Amino acid sequence: MITRMSTLFLRTLREDPADAEVPSHKLLVRAGYVRRIAPGIYSWLPLGLRVLRKIEEIVREEMNAIGAQEIHFPALLPKEPYEATNRWTEYGPNLFRLKDRKGGDYLLGPTHEELFALTVKGEYSSYKDYPVMLYQIQTKYRDEERPRAGILRGREFVMKDSYSFDLDDEGLAASYRLHRDAYIRIFDRVGLRYVIVAATSGAMGGSASEEFLAESETGEDTFVRSTESGFAANVEAVITPAPPAEPVEGKPAAEVHHTPNTPTIETLVDFLNANTDRKFTAADTLKNVLVKTRQPGAQDWELLAIGVPGDREVDMKRLEASLEPAEVALLDEADFAANPFLVKGYIGPKALQDNGVRFLVDPRVVTGTAWVTGADKTDHHVVDLLCGRDFTPDGTVEAAEVRAGDPSPDGRGTLVAARGIEIGHIFQLGRKYADAFSLDALGQDGKPKRITMGSYGVGVSRLVAAVAEQSHDDLGLMWPREIAPADVHVVIAGKDESIRERGEAIAAELDAAGVQVILDDRTVSPGVKFADAELLGVPTILVVGKGLTKGVVEVRDRLSGDREEIEVDNAVAHVI
Ligand code: ATP
Ligand code: MG
Ligand code: MG
Ligand code: MG
Repeated sequence: MITRMSTLFLRTLREDPADAEVPSHKLLVRAGYVRRIAPGIYSWLPLGLRVLRKIEEIVREEMNAIGAQEIHFPALLPKEPYEATNRWTEYGPNLFRLKDRKGGDYLLGPTHEELFALTVKGEYSSYKDYPVMLYQIQTKYRDEERPRAGILRGREFVMKDSYSFDLDDEGLAASYRLHRDAYIRIFDRVGLRYVIVAATSGAMGGSASEEFLAESETGEDTFVRSTESGFAANVEAVITPAPPAEPVEGKPAAEVHHTPNTPTIETLVDFLNANTDRKFTAADTLKNVLVKTRQPGAQDWELLAIGVPGDREVDMKRLEASLEPAEVALLDEADFAANPFLVKGYIGPKALQDNGVRFLVDPRVVTGTAWVTGADKTDHHVVDLLCGRDFTPDGTVEAAEVRAGDPSPDGRGTLVAARGIEIGHIFQLGRKYADAFSLDALGQDGKPKRITMGSYGVGVSRLVAAVAEQSHDDLGLMWPREIAPADVHVVIAGKDESIRERGEAIAAELDAAGVQVILDDRTVSPGVKFADAELLGVPTILVVGKGLTKGVVEVRDRLSGDREEIEVDNAVAHVI
């Protein structure tokens, strides 16, 4: 099918929209890809929808390739499952809540862990059924405090969310690895420059979590990266750690203690103050303490990192809600023995070791940021660790703090602070949701076995903007071919009938060869057509104009800016 500019539902704008600050927002609106309806709520017009659909298709292919199966949930959901996990409250003002005509409470799904867990529980019962991975590509709703930059941070947006269900930790690790590899393929195909950084799992209760950040000055996340190698790590590495507190003579390292009752943030503070050497206050000192919590009736403890850099207020609220029904304890030796992602050791000043400091790291990740856990009030954002070099999973550690300006730990280049857009996030959730819904499989021994889950998100609509951020110039967008709204933009540049006929013929030939064509067949000046072609950003622009008298057409590469004259008879073969 040839897309004709003369009939395409498209009006490009010469001026930037008044509310747009970042290039992707300006250009996607000017090029007529999206239109604003309300803050953080956008419509997709024909060309924008094509890019979105192509990205969806890449995501779908890569998810299917790892054996995940596509399903589709409603966005309009009843409150009850989210009450069972506390997220009805925990999600805070970000959750769109509404009532039906009978007064029943509903929400618009911000993420779907609950529904997936319940659905698997409804269908599966035996260990033979597992493992299973399910996903959807679906509209999500979050009442973001600051919807921003057009579709980059929407209040309605498209996410691919998938969930893995395994019988044991090894299974979960394998599902996580499959997703990690699939995400690498997805973001490579979409054509982005990105880094993978270890992420704190916060109140999600996970033991391993990584974020995929598209490099961009307009991103909201900060990380450090080497000027010369691919080394990259979290923002924590660039926060200057406060000087460590002096060790208290004769005090033992943190031990396991249980709170007697329902902890709130205050009781947690009291608990930590009573059981550790340090004095905490709810306001400023609970960052990066790792404890474990257990929901009533649950078998398993969940690791819980308290306070997450960057999102602190939100996470403190989440934490408070998630702690309500739980028991809280500090980690003990058995936790370190049982959990391959917990590495016992110490980093930096001896004072930390004396305080029983522990840190959490995923030894399968070659480089990753570790964060200090334990009974110490100072922030110990730490370091990037290299498995094998800095530690072994049984716990020997030698590492140094790194920050912007330091040489890269791999010896190549210097670390600089950089900004990124979160495009994907993968989590090992563990049993938090399975516990909430008693999601068990009947084991071979006839006993119920609790399922362990992972959750994995890709910001599908955000990707459209992330690519636009990375790939544009003053004139307009520049799409990588795999996600461009068309492969070739044919411009009929001239009024002569012979030019028009030739343009039509070339477009028809390309179309017959399976190439997606936009044909500018309008009766406007060539200047207007060129400006629009540059703004729309199709990777190849083929100009059929005066050159025909010499037997040539011009082929412009939107990305490199190269222009070539090609014999008209070779034009189709040249751009296929
Ligand atoms: P952010 O830190 O940007 O708020 P998040 O950590 O809240 O994102 P997740 O819950 O991890 O987001 O959701 C998975 C993915 O969904 C994110 O990695 C991101 O790509 C995308 N996403 C999240 N919020 C939005 C939004 N408001 N608009 C568009 N995409 C979003
Ligand atoms: Mg968010
Ligand atoms: Mg985030
Ligand atoms: Mg995230």
